[in-house]
Amino acid sequence: MTGIGFEILARDGAARAGRLSTAHGTIETPVFMPLGTAGTVKAMTPEGVAATGARIVLGNTYHLMLRPGAERIAALGGLHRFMNWPHAILTDSGGFQVMSLAALRTISEAGVAFRSHLDGSRHLLTPERSVEIQHLLGANITMAFDECTPFPAERDQVEASMELSMRWAERSRAAFTERPGHGIFGIVQGGVHADLRHRSAARITEICFDGYAIGGLAIGEGQATTFAMLEATVPALPADRPRYLMGVGKPADIVGAVKRGVDMFDCVLPTRSGRTGQAFTRAGTLNLRNARHADDPTPLDPECRCPACTGFSRAYLHHLTKSGEILASMLLTAHNLTYYADLTAELRAAIRDGRLAEFVAPGTAG
Ligand SMILES: [Zn+2]
Repeated sequence: MTGIGFEILARDGAARAGRLSTAHGTIETPVFMPLGTAGTVKAMTPEGVAATGARIVLGNTYHLMLRPGAERIAALGGLHRFMNWPHAILTDSGGFQVMSLAALRTISEAGVAFRSHLDGSRHLLTPERSVEIQHLLGANITMAFDECTPFPAERDQVEASMELSMRWAERSRAAFTERPGHGIFGIVQGGVHADLRHRSAARITEICFDGYAIGGLAIGEGQATTFAMLEATVPALPADRPRYLMGVGKPADIVGAVKRGVDMFDCVLPTRSGRTGQAFTRAGTLNLRNARHADDPTPLDPECRCPACTGFSRAYLHHLTKSGEILASMLLTAHNLTYYADLTAELRAAIRDGRLAEFVAPGTAG
């Protein structure tokens, strides 16, 4: 196969432990992919990101097309070289950000016309242009361009949006240039309607992608609904291809989704929380701004292998956070990404050992 390889190494119930093969290395799944939105995982060096165990990060079509520009990055050798990240990159299509950030959006069959949130300049993002930008960036995994359906929305609106996304998925697939170690994923939409999800999954499978993403969830519908939509969607997707739940999530969401057959995740939570003094630990979520840490000489999480936990006390991290020091963001981001990397490593081990059913995310009730 010319695209992205995917080998399933172990199964436990609906869950799988697998291995993705790309032109920039292999990735063990289930995997959490840190966000490198603007060509950087915020507050982290590439070496620091790799030290957490991550071997794939996300890049963002919308942000990078506006600044510094996809053609400029291509002329400078592509995104891997530009950001000095030798491992794999997945780029999102820009569909979500154009709806959440851009001004004066107009959606038509052709695509989305909008004004940049940076300088007001006019742009048109189409399925073909989105795929071209992702090619210019050099993404190992390109995402099909889709419409982010608002939530809540009337069923008719969700259905029309899903159908538009399916037509755009077909155009995205046709625009994609096949090359070894690079692939394109389609995205299932359909809001919180199981029958629409099912229809979208059947349609997207027919188009035939290297992997299948589930989009438009974890945007306020609640965990029980997210899981119900996964149960309606995942069985309709090809068993031998990777599945990616976009924008999810909290540790307990990831565990529940893995149990329902999802292999890949991304979320702003560990990186954003790291910049606001929040830490995920095996003993629960901590707010480092809290005065109770001011005199605490113990590490954030005694079982954690990250630089924040092996070198510093809670008292020092509290001081950095309270003082607004850049090092607070750096250390807490490194810690949170290590927590997420270790969570997925523990999930892989539980699947291999056939003990996933009783697995609970460390430090959470679920
Ligand atoms: Zn740590």
